[in-house]
Amino acid sequence: MTGIGSPIMPNMQPPDDAGHHDRTGHMAAPSSLEKSPLPSPALFDKITGQQKAVDLLRASSRRPVHAYLLLGPSGLGQRELWRGFAASMLCPQGGCGKCEWCMKCLQGTHPDLTEMENTGLALSVDEAHDLVRMAQRTPLLASWQVLVVQDIARAYLAAPVLLKTLEEPPLRTIFVLTADSVPPSLATIRSRCLTIELALPRLHRHQHDTEDPTTPHTPQAQSRVPVASPAEDHLWDPWISLPSRIEPVGSSIATMADELLATVEKSVTLLAARQAEEIKEYDDHEASTGATNRTLRNRTLERQHRELRRERTLAFRKGLLVLRQTYEEQLIEIAHHYDGKSPDSFPPSRSYRVKALTSAIDAIDSTAAQLIRNPNEALLLQALLLKLANV
Ligand SMILES: [Zn+2]
Repeated sequence: MTGIGSPIMPNMQPPDDAGHHDRTGHMAAPSSLEKSPLPSPALFDKITGQQKAVDLLRASSRRPVHAYLLLGPSGLGQRELWRGFAASMLCPQGGCGKCEWCMKCLQGTHPDLTEMENTGLALSVDEAHDLVRMAQRTPLLASWQVLVVQDIARAYLAAPVLLKTLEEPPLRTIFVLTADSVPPSLATIRSRCLTIELALPRLHRHQHDTEDPTTPHTPQAQSRVPVASPAEDHLWDPWISLPSRIEPVGSSIATMADELLATVEKSVTLLAARQAEEIKEYDDHEASTGATNRTLRNRTLERQHRELRRERTLAFRKGLLVLRQTYEEQLIEIAHHYDGKSPDSFPPSRSYRVKALTSAIDAIDSTAAQLIRNPNEALLLQALLLKLANV
C-alpha cells in the first residue's frame, strides 16, 4: 500500500523544474507557485486528526501532480481537505487564506473548482464522458482547475473512461478522487494517483494506558486502529464465495444465511476476547505497580461495552461490503472488456448481466441501509439472498 509516508507516482511525470510537463512537451501553468511560501494553514483549520494529509497537500500544491486519491471512509474531512487544497492552487497568492478566491474555494463556489455531486449511485459512462470534456476545458480564472470525483470505487463501467483521462492528463486540470477503499480491479486508477491515506478515528486501544478517554484524540492515538488477528484472516470467506454457491432454494438460502450470521457472531467473539485481554493487562499492571484507578478501569469497561454493541452491526456491514466487492469486480471486468463503451451498445446477454449485477449491488446497499433499524438479521439476510440467487 502506498502510504502518505512514501508517496509514489508511477507513470506520472510532474512538471519539471521549469514548469514544463515533460511527457507532452507542453508548457505547464506558470510555475511561480513553486517559489511562493506554503499555503496558509488557516485554509485547513477546520480539519482535525488529518495532519499528515494536510501537510502533504500543502507541500504538494507547490508542485502538484495530476491526480490525488483521498483514501478512507467518508466523514474524515475529505471535503475540507480538497477545498483547502483547491484554495492553495486557485488563489493568485498561492492560498493566502484571506482573499475572495480563497473564500470561494472554501465554500465550494470557485468557478475553477468542480465538485461532482455524490449521488450514491454508480458513476455512469455518460457522466464519465462529461467529466472528460470538463477536464479538457481551460480554467476560467485561475492557472488550474480542480475536478473532484467522489467515491471512485463505484465507477464500475465508467472506470476505463476515467483511466484514459488519468493516463493522458489534461495540462491544467488536477483531479481529486475519493474512495473508501479500492477494489483490486481499480488498482490501475489508483496507480495513476498520488494516494493520500486518511487517518482513521481510533476504534480500539490495544494497550491499557492512563490516557483519559475523554481527551481529544491525538494524531498518534488515531493511527492506532484495530489489527486483525490471524484468526480473522478467513473470517469473511463465506461472504466472498457466496455468489458462486447461491441457489434459489429455500432450505439452502436459510442455511447460507445462518452461515453468514455465524461469521458476524465470530467477529463479536473475537472482539470480546481482545477486550478481555485488554482488561487483564490493565489488572496485571495494577497488581504489579499497586496503583489503582477505578475510574479509568470503569471507563474502559464502558467503552468496551459500547464497542461490543457496535461490533455486530459493523461486522454485518463488513460482510456486506465484501460481498458487494465480488459483484463490483464482475461489473468492472465487463467494463474493461468493452473499454468504456456505453452499456446500450453491449450485446443483449452482456447488458442483461450488467443490469443483474447492478441490481445485486443495489440490493446489498439497501440491506446495509436497513441495518440501523435493528432488524431481524436472519430475515433481512434471507431476503437479500433470495434476490441474489436470481442474479
Ligand atoms: Zn487567497
